[in-house]
Amino acid sequence: MDHVTHLKCQICEKEYSPDAIDYICPDHGDEGIVDVCYDYERIAGRISKESLAADGNYSIWRYKPLLPVAPDAEVPPLAIGWTPLYGAPRLAAKLGLEQLWVKDDGRLPTASFKDRASAVAVVKAREQKAEIITTASTGNAAAALSGICASVGQANVIFVPESAPPAKIAQLLVYDSTVMLVKGSYDDAFELCLETAAEYGWYNRNTGYNPYMTEGKKTAAYEICEQLSWEAPDCIFVSVGDGCIIGGLHKGLKDLMALGWIRKMPRLIGVQAEGSSYMFEAWKNGEDILTKAPVSGITVADSISAGLPRDRIKALAAVTETDGAYVQVSDDEILAAIPALARGSAVFAEPAGAAAYAGLVKAAGDGLVRRDERIVVLNTGNGLKDVKSTMTAVGMAGSVPWHIEPNLAAVREAISKTGILEGK
Ligand SMILES: *Cc1c(COP(=O)(O)O)cnc(C)c1O
Ligand SMILES: [Zn+2]
Repeated sequence: MDHVTHLKCQICEKEYSPDAIDYICPDHGDEGIVDVCYDYERIAGRISKESLAADGNYSIWRYKPLLPVAPDAEVPPLAIGWTPLYGAPRLAAKLGLEQLWVKDDGRLPTASFKDRASAVAVVKAREQKAEIITTASTGNAAAALSGICASVGQANVIFVPESAPPAKIAQLLVYDSTVMLVKGSYDDAFELCLETAAEYGWYNRNTGYNPYMTEGKKTAAYEICEQLSWEAPDCIFVSVGDGCIIGGLHKGLKDLMALGWIRKMPRLIGVQAEGSSYMFEAWKNGEDILTKAPVSGITVADSISAGLPRDRIKALAAVTETDGAYVQVSDDEILAAIPALARGSAVFAEPAGAAAYAGLVKAAGDGLVRRDERIVVLNTGNGLKDVKSTMTAVGMAGSVPWHIEPNLAAVREAISKTGILEGK
């Protein structure tokens, strides 16, 4: 791992050797999230745009020389990464835009973006020969860790709030994780998981604690730029809970700038739910994120419910350093975005994924994006993760099925009422 030079505390900028610490800066406790720093000259000798063009490995591991793992590290067999980037001309036209793409990470093996991070966690844990890996999660990071552990037969213990959607809990159980349903919020589950990991000495995958999660997440930025033939987009819209994904995108883009593979830094637009808008508030009001009190975190978009975003330092930098913005959307706007995105691009997102599109709708209305900008919306989770919210959303959109008797006369009657023959 001679390409990783050091780990740097985001607060005091103290540098540590990767062998010296596993997670945070000891001087700054849980807030002291470190950044993984690289020797880009060395990396440039091992990977290039040209070598990638000739590489048939279409997973996150095509970028292995840019990841904090040994060149010969064994990686999980699941196909993680290289999710489709769909052009979305009908959605673009509807919003008065010229070029819009939707990247669908709902297509990853456990159906959320979190597979990118959990894959790296499993490699790092096995590097240390960890017996047990643990994480707290609103559901998706847990499902991702659970599924990737199943792919290599790795024991794991998961902490999720009892209120997590049933599909996510089903994923944990089917992959045979040991599951702790915490009678409390995600923040309660997070604290409890940290305590438990310390107590038993387990490998800790927690978001906004384990520095390597950002590194897994940055692969989405590489893919977006490579899929656009290394012509970076102008804006990327992504929903924000703990802020690790937006920080990861920023990291990936900074890597590409350092390598000279892209010429311009895209603006990162973080989208938050009104009930869980810590980052939006802090950014808008210029508040100090080391002292700002937690918010309630209540939203229908469970995956971005975070009263105290764990990766807030990186999440704020991602927006301020790219001349981006935070946008907040209501739960109703998020729910409306689910069918809108599905009907306009065929990408079926869970509420937190659709929130990114809701943010674009709002930004387009507010003039935050220009007509001629090249825009990417990142869907972070599959709609089947939360069928209940989808049913609420389609109900709000006025979409109802026809309950009919099993005969043609009943079909005729229903068809005449639908208006479909009149082109409605
Ligand atoms: C985790 C998650 C997010 C938010 O990511 P953070 O790193 O917590 O900001 C967004 N959407 C989905 C579907 C997620 O699972
Ligand atoms: Zn520090």
